Parts: sequence; C-alpha cells; structure tokens
Amino acid sequence: MMDHDAKIFVAGHRGLLGSAIVRALRIAGFMNLITRSRDQLDLRDNGAVRVLFERERPDYVFLAAARVGGILANGTLPVEFLVENLAIQNSVLIAACDTQVKKLLFLGSSCIYPRMAPQPIREEYLLTGPLEPSNRAYALAKIAGIELCNACRSEYGSNFISVMPTNLYGPDDNFDLTTSHVLPALLRKIHIAKMRADTTVSVWGTGTPRREFLHVTDAADACLFLMNHYDSAEIVNVGTGEEITIGDLAQSIAEIVGYNGEIVYDTSRPDGTPRKVLDVSRLIGLGWRPCIALKAGIARVYQEVDKSAWLDPGSRPSQQGNSAFDATQNDPDLSLHGAACLPDSDRYRRERNPIQVSP
Ligand code: GDP
Repeated sequence: MMDHDAKIFVAGHRGLLGSAIVRALRIAGFMNLITRSRDQLDLRDNGAVRVLFERERPDYVFLAAARVGGILANGTLPVEFLVENLAIQNSVLIAACDTQVKKLLFLGSSCIYPRMAPQPIREEYLLTGPLEPSNRAYALAKIAGIELCNACRSEYGSNFISVMPTNLYGPDDNFDLTTSHVLPALLRKIHIAKMRADTTVSVWGTGTPRREFLHVTDAADACLFLMNHYDSAEIVNVGTGEEITIGDLAQSIAEIVGYNGEIVYDTSRPDGTPRKVLDVSRLIGLGWRPCIALKAGIARVYQEVDKSAWLDPGSRPSQQGNSAFDATQNDPDLSLHGAACLPDSDRYRRERNPIQVSP
C-alpha cells in the first residue's frame, strides 16, 4: 500500500487518464505529487528524465504519458506512434529502474491483443496472433513497454506492473475530429448536427464493430487499486467486460444529445478490428468493480465539457472537467451491475481501509 506521504510521479498528468489519476490521488489524500508539463520536461529525453528521477527520487510512478489517437491518427502517423511511445517509456522505465522506485504502474492498451483474438480477450492471448494493422505501430510500442517492465523485474528486481485499459472516455478527452477516438468524435459530431439542425450525421465505417468503453474516473480508480494491491508480472485488463456496436453507441449518444436526425454510415472509412472486449475476471477476482454505466457516463461528459468552440471545425476546445464524478453514481438505474457506487471520496476512504482481496 502507498503511504499517504509517499512521493508519487504521474507522468502524463495532463492527459485523459493521467489527469484522472491525479484527481483520484488527491481525493484519496496523496498530496506529495510530482507532475511536469510537456514544456517543463520532454519525457522522450532520457537525460532530462534521469535528472528528474535523481533529483526527486519518487517512490511510486504512474506512467500514463503516451502519444495516443483514434483510428485515423494511428493510420496516418505510425512513425510518431511507434517512436514517441518507445522513447517515453524507455526513458521513464529505465530511470525508474536505475533509481529503484518502490513501484511503477505502466499503462498499455487493449489494442496490444491479436486482431482475431477470441472474445472476451483474456490476458494470456497477448502475442498469440497477428495485430490489427490500423494501430500496429502503437500496439508494438506498448508490447515493448510490457516486455521492458518484465525485463526490469527479472534482471533488477523492479516492482513494475502493466495494466491494459480498454477504450477510455471522460471530460478531458481529445475532441479533435481528426485525431480523437470514436466516443468523443461522435459526441461532438452529433452535438454539431443538432445545433445546425442537420438531417443526417456521418459515422465512419459500417457501424458493426464492437467496442468496450470505460469512464476515466473508473479507470483511475482501478489504477490506484492495482498500485495498492497487485504485484505480479502478469498484465491486467481494466474494463467493464461489456461491449456495444458503434451503431448502438451513435444511437445512445443521439438520445443523450437529443438529436433526432438520421445516422448514416461512411463505409469509405475503416472499421478497424471487428470486436474488442476485455475479459476482466482477473481484476474482478482481485475485488475491484467498475461503477459508472456507459449512458450515465456519456451524459455526464456531455454536461461537463465546454462545447462552445465545437462548431468551429479547426478548434480544439478547452475542457472544464475538473470536478470529481459524483451526481449520477448514486442512481441505481445508472450504475453498473447494480453495484453500490460510492462517490469518489467514499470510494477512496474504503480504499484506505481495504476490503479483503486475494494476494
Ligand atoms: P479503434 O478502437 O482503435 O478502432 O479506434 P477508434 O475509437 O478511432 O474507432 C473505433 C471505431 O469507431 C472504428 O470502427 C471507427 O471507424 C468508428 N468510428 C465511427 N465514427 C468515427 C469517428 O467519427 N471517429 C473515429 N475515430 N472513429 C469513428
């Protein structure tokens, strides 16, 4: 378990997950946090990263920094996705290993698994088949990160764990239509269609691929839980275990936004992998549960996010998204699996007096 005065470095604290991890840590009472913005520290620069680790000597590290993007960005910038992710994780993992941090949590992705992996995807399916071509460069970088975590563990005794989150969404998401993932893209597109009273809205691909989505507050909660309770070299999936087609996602978003027009499919755009849903029994077996049901989570994001610049196609609006997720969590209709969902603060109070978990 992390002490409350432990020094914790969150690499990538401005990103979707990194910022949620910082919020979760603060709510849980961890105040000795180290963060560096991109202009203060280039995480690809291993010399600069080493200086930070030698000076600050963090006890714990969450490695949430990465070059990320949706299907279009992955397809058009494979060099950046491969090289930048390798550089970031190499510099942080080696500096953490050399300065003997107590523990590090490395964030991978569900796209590390083979394109045609049996569903739901179990952790042991890693490296059992060919990858999905549309994000192979990103996936290979993340697989190299898992390998480096385990190499540091076996060669130097580093306590590095690797966590594979499913598709995340939240208020600090990237809503840029060329680089974003599907959920923020559809939220923005459908909102624009409603504001302009467009009769149709275009969704890429056939609408048949299936994806799983996890609210970033749940994902951050799982990361803290695993940092406190998990010490194995085996990777751990983080998700809900529930899937939805892209067509049904678009329909749900249209209902949340209040858009009554027609959803049309642009089949000149790629579908990507046909199905991607994680088997989360390893995580559930440890005693963690997701709390935020998809529709409630999307509604909350839609309410929280600053939509004022969304009509301007070139702009990247700033997001508000600093408040802890609370209101919808106590509504039983909106919670997952009927789980008793606690406001964040209670969730973390419970974390400090943990329920029994298997070793
Ligand atoms: P993936 O999960 O790695 O395939 O990445 P994405 O989140 O970018 O895409 C998921 C699925 O949503 C793919 O089948 C896309 O074709 C589909 N999709 C539909 N409309 C959009 C859109 O406007 N943007 C994005 N990024 N994907 C979309």
